[in-house]
Amino acid sequence: MTNCDVVIVGGGIGGISAAARLAADGGSVILLEAESTLAYHTTGRSAAQYLENYGNDTVRRLTLMTRPFLEPFLGPRPLLQIGREARIDDLRARVEHAIELVPSTEFVDGETARQLFPLLAPDIAGGLYEPDSQDIDVAALHQEYVRWFRAEGGTILASASVRSLTRSEGRWRVEAGEHTIDAAIVANAAGAWGDQVATLAGAEPLGLYPLRRTIAIASIPDGHDPNDVARWPLTSFEPDEGPMVGYCKPEPGGLMVSPADETPSEPCDAKPEEIDVALGLHNLSEYTTLDVHHVRSTWAGLRTFTADRTPVSGFDPEIDGFYWLVGQGGYGIHTSDALAQVAAANIGQTDWPSHLVDIGLSSADLAADRASLFGPLIDGH
Ligand SMILES: Cc1cc2nc3c(=O)[nH]c(=O)nc-3n(C[C@H](O)[C@H](O)[C@H](O)COP(=O)(O)OP(=O)(O)OC[C@H]3O[C@@H](n4cnc5c(N)ncnc54)[C@H](O)[C@@H]3O)c2cc1C
Repeated sequence: MTNCDVVIVGGGIGGISAAARLAADGGSVILLEAESTLAYHTTGRSAAQYLENYGNDTVRRLTLMTRPFLEPFLGPRPLLQIGREARIDDLRARVEHAIELVPSTEFVDGETARQLFPLLAPDIAGGLYEPDSQDIDVAALHQEYVRWFRAEGGTILASASVRSLTRSEGRWRVEAGEHTIDAAIVANAAGAWGDQVATLAGAEPLGLYPLRRTIAIASIPDGHDPNDVARWPLTSFEPDEGPMVGYCKPEPGGLMVSPADETPSEPCDAKPEEIDVALGLHNLSEYTTLDVHHVRSTWAGLRTFTADRTPVSGFDPEIDGFYWLVGQGGYGIHTSDALAQVAAANIGQTDWPSHLVDIGLSSADLAADRASLFGPLIDGH
């Protein structure tokens, strides 16, 4: 039997970032991953974008506080959220709210939007422009957390699916793959499987919502200067009312297209459905002058939300020594370091770093027993 302070369940960005921060603070930490490689599930399937105006204000604060760690892995990729005339008042109001935390955000009219992305449909009337949004090199970022964790003495055990969690005399006995581990604390960073891992520990599930999202890489038609294409923003399509219906951004091998789908799913190895790929291409043709029928590759991943679409980083209220680090939804990469700092402080029983407090975050925002976790899933975007 191996002993340690903290076992982390899950080797995606949530688990590895918290593992690195905890180990750097001096804890002995073992990270367990069910798959043979880390980042196989949602972390390896994202749109790899850093967005300061995405999600609610708690998420946006976590994002801003993660930026310093992400800086070496970022490259410019502005955000343009566009709509037709019927959506313009709403987009202007969104800009008014956005500038309180992100002052560089601005409203752009249709002509300016077309200068930024010349392929917009002629009746696009304008939108929200976030000039400082970025591409993220997610693989390199994840690798950096792995390198840092190992350098701090952390242990990673892959092909180690946690199948039993038993608490006695203030310690956990963790059975995973061929391993048995004795630990003071178990941190649940199991993504879509978060409720299943909690059930093993005897904790009440949070009712997490794994929602499938699809991505296709389409070929960019001939005739576009690659230097111009490389500068196109991430462009999201806002219908006259309701949540966004898709987005696109240039990728080294083509154009990334998503219908921004949110299809409820069991935790699983998510696969793209043809109908969602077709919807992505259809919506692209509704908001741009692009008419794409062929795609080079497709994938899907599960964005796992809590009911209030805010992550949880806090101890279970009932089960001693059980920590939740789940519900990172569509923003788990660009909130990773702030959530990891919160986890390290809570688990290590130290004060939160002052920059997290100063920006207005509090433990109540991320607690595992907040009332808003137990209502219906709120609308997303
Ligand atoms: C299409 C798409 C686009 C996205 N775009 C963005 C974006 O642009 N920017 C952004 O910030 N975020 C984005 N996201 C969201 C982001 O990818 C997620 O929030 C983040 O990856 C979640 O990380 P995680 O570690 O919680 O989950 P995961 O990466 O899924 O990791 C959880 C791990 O737990 C393991 N596990 C489960 N059960 C067990 C067990 N019993 N024992 C051991 N291990 C177990 C799993 O195998 C898995 O590897 C996107 C997601 C998708 C799908």
